[in-house]
Amino acid sequence: IPIERIRNFSIIAHVDHGKSTLADRLLELTGTIKGGQQNQILDKLQVERERGITVKAQSASLLYKYNGDIYLLNLIDTPGHVDFSNEVHRSLSVCQGVILLVDSNDGVQAQTVANFYLAFVNDLVIIPVLNKIDLKNADPERVSKQLKSLFEINPDEILKISAKLGIGIDNVLQNIITKIPSPKVDRSSKLRALLFDCTYDRYRGALSLIYIQDGCISLGDSITTFHNKKDYEVRTLSLLRPDEVRVKKLVAGQIGLVGCNMRSPKEAHIGDTIYHSTCLIEPLEGFKLSQPMVFAGVYPMDQSQHINLRNAIEKLTLNDSAVSVELDTSPALGQGWRLGFLGLLHLEVFTQRLTQEYGAEPIITAPSVTYKIKLKPTKQNVKDGSDVMYVNNPANFPEQMKIEQTFEPMIIGTIVTPDKYLGAIMSLCMERRGVQRSANNIDNERVILQYDLPLCEVVLDFHDTLKTISSGYASFDYENTGYQESSMVKLAILLNGTLVDELSNIVHVTKAKTIGKQMVFKLKDIIPRQMVHIAVQATVNGKVMARENIKPYRKDVTAKLYGGDITRRMKLLAQQAAGKKKMRMVANISLPRETFIDVLKK
Ligand code: GDP
Ligand code: MG
Repeated sequence: IPIERIRNFSIIAHVDHGKSTLADRLLELTGTIKGGQQNQILDKLQVERERGITVKAQSASLLYKYNGDIYLLNLIDTPGHVDFSNEVHRSLSVCQGVILLVDSNDGVQAQTVANFYLAFVNDLVIIPVLNKIDLKNADPERVSKQLKSLFEINPDEILKISAKLGIGIDNVLQNIITKIPSPKVDRSSKLRALLFDCTYDRYRGALSLIYIQDGCISLGDSITTFHNKKDYEVRTLSLLRPDEVRVKKLVAGQIGLVGCNMRSPKEAHIGDTIYHSTCLIEPLEGFKLSQPMVFAGVYPMDQSQHINLRNAIEKLTLNDSAVSVELDTSPALGQGWRLGFLGLLHLEVFTQRLTQEYGAEPIITAPSVTYKIKLKPTKQNVKDGSDVMYVNNPANFPEQMKIEQTFEPMIIGTIVTPDKYLGAIMSLCMERRGVQRSANNIDNERVILQYDLPLCEVVLDFHDTLKTISSGYASFDYENTGYQESSMVKLAILLNGTLVDELSNIVHVTKAKTIGKQMVFKLKDIIPRQMVHIAVQATVNGKVMARENIKPYRKDVTAKLYGGDITRRMKLLAQQAAGKKKMRMVANISLPRETFIDVLKK
């Protein structure tokens, strides 16, 4: 297929506006899949199916006949949630255009705004499409006006479709062909391919998803990765339609999967350039990936599972390059890792995948953002530059007397909401130490707000709370803006007088008391009664902020069931045993596996 008849595009939208459903219809209409199959075909992962969200961008190559010619359309489905914006960035780097999909009932939402600007600054052609026009409450006119007032999109250019019912889909395909330019690539020059995603296959090792910018690649070729200058032989090449179809050759403009026996996950460097081993080339421009913002310790239930967990983490990070990995040890939990994530949903999805795809059941400790700390100057630390440190693990928080200043990471948050929830949302932002930057009307019932907020106040449950107080109508998106001075302290959790850093937390000084109270109360609830009395305390610099007691229990849970039914007794004993299995001894007290993360949720 000649270059002029290739289109690379992506569908971007706020979560639930129908991207995956539209992708299904496009796959059907181009004969790539048969109608009436499963829905949301590209959501392959179990987490995606269970949560009904897309977390991995997926690609599919479609063939479509238009005016007598066959066109190759490379579609990249992207996730909508903020935590996965890396996937969106990456996908856009190989596209020339996007379909900006907006729900014609919900209208413009926070991620619609964020995604529009992402496509806009990348100079991509934007095809605006209103979806779900079949809904009773659909109001395409109102949403068109929103698009006009926010993005200056001409209402005449806006397509109106129903992805669910398959209305207007051929019009979308025609617009992709007529409006989006073909990629600017060169097939006659030396091979340069951008490695932009990676998956792991049990038999073939790491498989790299590549976009061929220049030249072509064939089976048997010797290729080199620019990053670590390692040589490989091309063993398999495939197109994703969306299942793998083996081919012998891929040419510039195409997207495909390369298997070349990369054994170690670390070898596939996202953003790397692949070239023919004998040719010297200029590397392609990689892309800026977001930095991990939320860190948590990940530990095996017991050390016998250490190797298992290590393998699982290695393989999964290959498929999710946004996760950062460092070794870590904890006095209570032994050898483990400190992993960095883009947000809390990202953390939850990652750990769920560890369990579902690799059978690992790790302990996850309380998540934390990275604080910057300036220590009081001493001759030594000024000389070697160790007077400034970055801390994302409460265990490493220095003693208060050594600290000169603390800084916390800030974000600028965008909230779109119907105006009747404005009051509740403004109090929420205030409670989270937010400062309003702007408030503007999108139309006569919707408002777009911008707030400066501390990252630690939004990573955990801000999004959920926002959804709850607005009955699901408000949406949220954020961007990082750097450090700001702020008084942070370590809120230490003690169990029977023993400091448990794995439960401790770095918090703003004004919140230490409230959070301390919440935490000990929550712990009282989570920690099962045991043989011994347990005192749970929260302290700041040795000062007790809150305390609760957990009374010891009676020795035999079945003692009360005098005589009674033997099967009932057996059941109770079995339950007790099952409960024990997922416990972890910390400070001579057994804690359920989920304690470390559950204690922070409201
Ligand atoms: P994504 O998060 O953007 O990928 O959205 P999905 O494709 O998963 O769709 C979210 C929900 O909207 C699903 O329940 C779809 O069935 C539904 N949906 C998608 N398109 C339409 C449509 O045109 N009309 C109606 N009524 N529902 C739709
Ligand atoms: Mg989806």
